[in-house]
Amino acid sequence: MYIVQIASECAPVIKAGGLGDVVYGLSRELELRGHTIEIILPKYDCMRYDQIWGLHEAYQDLYVPWFDGAIHCTVFCGWVHGQLCFFIEPHSEDHFFDRGCYYGCVDDYLRFAFFSKAALEFLLKSGKRPDILHCHDWQTGLAPVMLYEMYKYQGMENIRVCYTIHNFKHQGIAGTNILWATGLNRESYYFEYDRLRDNFNPFGLNFMKGGIVYSNFVTTVSPNHAWEAHYGEFGYGLGHTLELHQHKFGGVLNGIDYKVWNPEVDRFIPEQYTPETLEGKEKNKKALRERLWLSHEDKPLVCYIGRLDDQKGVHLVHHAIYYALHRQAQFVLLGSATEPGINSWFWHEKNFLNDNPDCHLELGFNEELSHLIYAAADIIVVPSNYEPCGLTQMIGLKYGAVPVVRGVGGLVNTVFDRDYDQYHTPEERNGYVFNQTDEPALESAMDRAIGLWNYYPDEFEKLRIQGMSYDYSWKQPGTDYLAIYEFIRHK
Ligand code: ADP
Repeated sequence: MYIVQIASECAPVIKAGGLGDVVYGLSRELELRGHTIEIILPKYDCMRYDQIWGLHEAYQDLYVPWFDGAIHCTVFCGWVHGQLCFFIEPHSEDHFFDRGCYYGCVDDYLRFAFFSKAALEFLLKSGKRPDILHCHDWQTGLAPVMLYEMYKYQGMENIRVCYTIHNFKHQGIAGTNILWATGLNRESYYFEYDRLRDNFNPFGLNFMKGGIVYSNFVTTVSPNHAWEAHYGEFGYGLGHTLELHQHKFGGVLNGIDYKVWNPEVDRFIPEQYTPETLEGKEKNKKALRERLWLSHEDKPLVCYIGRLDDQKGVHLVHHAIYYALHRQAQFVLLGSATEPGINSWFWHEKNFLNDNPDCHLELGFNEELSHLIYAAADIIVVPSNYEPCGLTQMIGLKYGAVPVVRGVGGLVNTVFDRDYDQYHTPEERNGYVFNQTDEPALESAMDRAIGLWNYYPDEFEKLRIQGMSYDYSWKQPGTDYLAIYEFIRHK
C-alpha cells in the first residue's frame, strides 16, 4: 500500500509529545512490512535540522489558494532516521512556521488549516495518489473535509482517510473565516451541526469534528480511551458525534519504537542492559546521580517524565515529589509547562528543593536526558487525570522502571496490578494502579511500590523483569492499522 501521513509532529525532528513518537514509530513499522510511507510536515524554523538527512528542495513553486489569493510555498524533502519526510515552507508575511515554537500562537487554527490545505495541494500538484491518507489530531482535521469536498473532484477520489485522535481536549475551534480561507465557501452547508459546527459553541467551527465526520475511519490511541471518549466525559463534547459515527470508530493502542526505546541498544545511556544483566541499570542510576548531583545512598529512585499540565495530574505529580522524599526515596522530574501559572509553580519548587540531595527537577524538554532517567529509575509515576494512551509507562516498563499509574485511559490497557484486578494472573502483573484522584490514593500505590523495593528486593526485581518482558512494540498496532486501511480501501 502507498500511505501518506499528514501530521504536525514526527519524532525526533519535531516532537512536543507522544504524537511525534507515534507518527515516526507507525511509519517505520509499516515500511518494514513493505509498504511505501511518506510523511508531510510543516517546515518549522525551530525543528531539529540535525535529525534530517539529505534535506533538499523537492517542489519549488507550490501555490496554495488562501483567502482570495494564493501563498507561494517550497516543499523540501529529507530522511528522518530512514523515513521519507516532506516539509512545507510557506513564503508569506504570516510567517506561519517561523515562530520559534510548534504550537501556542493565537492564529494556530489558521496556521494548521493552511498546512492541511498545502499538504493536499502538494499531493495534487505532484501527482501523488496514495491509497491511504493518515491524518492526526485537530491540526489536520480539515484535510479529510477538503479532500472529500474539493480535491476529490480533481482526480483524488480514490484516496481513503484514517484519522487518529491523540487528544480530544484540543479540538481546534475557530471562526467561520476559516471556510473562506480554505475555499470551503458555502457557509450555510459546512456550518451545520452534522458537519463542522461545534456541538456546544454555536459560533465555533470544530476542526476535529470535521475530521470525524469526513474520514473513512477514526481511531483514538487506546481501546479504553475510545470507550471513555464515546460514553464518558473525555470526548470533551464530541461524544455525540462519536455516537453518530460509531460504525467507523475504534481504539488502537499505540506502540513504542524499540529501535529508539530499548535499553539493550540505547545509545544515550552509558550502560546498556537486558533483563539478564540488570546490574547495568545500577550503573545508569549511578551515572544519573552523578550528573544531577544526587546522593548515592541505597534508595529507590522515583521519576516523572512528561508535560506539566492539568491532563497529567500536576497536583499529584507535585505531591509525589514530597511523598517520595517523605518515604526516603529519591525523585527526579523532567517536564515542561506551557501554562505560565504551572511553570512558575514548578520553578518555585525547583528553587526550594535545589539543595536537596534526593531530588532534582529539570524543567524543559530534553530527549537525551529522558533516556537516562528511564534507564536509571526504579519507579515511574503517571498520575494522569486523563490519558488517551500514555507512552511513558510503556517506555518505563521496557527500561525496568515499575509504573505507578492512575487507572484511566490507555494506562488501564497497559499496566496491570494484581491487587485490584482479578482478570490478570500474578505473572501478568507489571505495576501499581490507583483509581481516585486524591493524594491518599497515590500515596497508597507509591507505598506499595516503595515498600516492595525496600523490604522485598527479590520480588521487586521479579516485577521489574515481568514488566520488561511485555511487548508494547508496533507489531500489534501495525497489524491493526493495516487491517483498518484494508477495510476502508475496499469499502
Ligand atoms: P503526551 O500526552 O505528551 O503525548 P505521552 O506519554 O503520550 O504524553 O508521550 C510523551 C512523550 O514525550 C514520551 O516520549 C516522553 O518521554 C516525552 N517527553 C515528555 N516530556 C518530555 C520532556 N520534558 N523532555 C523529554 N521528553 C519528554
